[in-house]
Amino acid sequence: MAAADPDCLFCKIVAGEIPATIVARDDRTIAFMDINPATRGHTLVIPRAHARDVHEIETEDLEAVAATAQRIAALAVERLGADGVNLLNSNGPAAWQTVFHFHMHVIPRYAGDPLRLPWDPAPGNMDHVAAAGAELTR
Ligand code: AMP
Ligand code: ZN
Repeated sequence: MAAADPDCLFCKIVAGEIPATIVARDDRTIAFMDINPATRGHTLVIPRAHARDVHEIETEDLEAVAATAQRIAALAVERLGADGVNLLNSNGPAAWQTVFHFHMHVIPRYAGDPLRLPWDPAPGNMDHVAAAGAELTR
């Protein structure tokens, strides 16, 4: 497994050094609520092993991230009543990547919601973020 990057925000979440609302974990991945949610239930799925982007991530980790994202997408529909789901992954600043530890956004979509890409990240109400996380994991 790649060494954790001491300067990487998401490695710190993996290590438990920064708090996050974690909604799923397995050997290779964790999923946690995005603190600037584009919609209710916006979740990030990351490999535990540090990799900058799609070019660096081990294939097995990419497969594991996809499997976790599929599970979260199903929960978004079942538990949050999402009408659709965007899976979004950005690689490189030109593609809107801002955190350089590979991540897959799982963005629940609700019929008629106002979200347009790229969205403008804005801090979420943390009570609402936690409540959506609790519904995903209940
Ligand atoms: P990207 O712009 O695709 O690199 O996505 C990075 C995402 O990480 C953004 O949607 C941020 O809101 C999210 N983010 C940044 N810091 C945190 C954090 N501490 N906990 C949860 N999500 C975060
Ligand atoms: Zn990292």
